[in-house]
Amino acid sequence: MFSRRQKEWLKKLIPPTALTLYHHLQRLFYKVKLAYYRITLRGNTYYCPFCKNTFSRFLPDGKNLPVLNQYRVIGGGYRTNCICPGCGSKDRERLLYCYLKQKTGIFSEKPLHVLHIAPEANLKKVLKQHPQLNYINADLNPGAADVQMDITDIPYSDAFFDIILCNHVLEHIPNDGLAMRQLYRVLKPGGQAILQVPFAEALEHTIENPAITHPADRETQFGQFDHVRIYGHDYLNRLQNAGFTIAVFTAANLQNEIDIKKMSLIENEKIFVGYKNSSGG
Ligand SMILES: [Zn+2]
Repeated sequence: MFSRRQKEWLKKLIPPTALTLYHHLQRLFYKVKLAYYRITLRGNTYYCPFCKNTFSRFLPDGKNLPVLNQYRVIGGGYRTNCICPGCGSKDRERLLYCYLKQKTGIFSEKPLHVLHIAPEANLKKVLKQHPQLNYINADLNPGAADVQMDITDIPYSDAFFDIILCNHVLEHIPNDGLAMRQLYRVLKPGGQAILQVPFAEALEHTIENPAITHPADRETQFGQFDHVRIYGHDYLNRLQNAGFTIAVFTAANLQNEIDIKKMSLIENEKIFVGYKNSSGG
């Protein structure tokens, strides 16, 4: 409705109560929109593992920016069938859910300490339903999660968490090395951290420039107004430098071709998993 610059001006002009009301109205509008599509997009072509509904199509999401095409960035850009009209889940959240069910034991009876950074709404809802989990969800922005937390300064002791979910977060953090070392520190030996990012297939080296700070410039250079870099293949080295041992999974490791299409997963999207060896090294 408004450009980003106009929104910044409006924030300064409008009193906070009116701003809260505006956000409530935005959320209400989104819910009404989903309710409308839930009815009009009935069908059997697509299936959502969260709400377990089927639809004739999902809703599109993402922007078709030249920089994302140029570097072949997976997990960013315009996707035709991305958002489930039933619950609002996105393609990468559905993929993550498949990974968690198959590769982590998070839904077993085992009591586990789980840290979920910038929590995806549907995953958060599912994880909260499992009382055996000590489930902590956190975000830098107040009110966006149950705990406010800066991941470059995590207020938990060493080796506290069995599983960490930190997806599409590191590309926002100026000092990502510090964040990676903190995540590694609070992970238990034998535990795993799931660390998805938008990943540029065509980039050997990550592109970043701290001098680029304006939202419009960041969108042009890094593919989103609040991203500070685009990760290339050296993303793995950065994680290894923080201490992690890395494995990479794709949808093809988790689902057959039919289910990948049915859930509209991104076939070549990478799930980066960082392990801490049992020795802690
Ligand atoms: Zn759904």
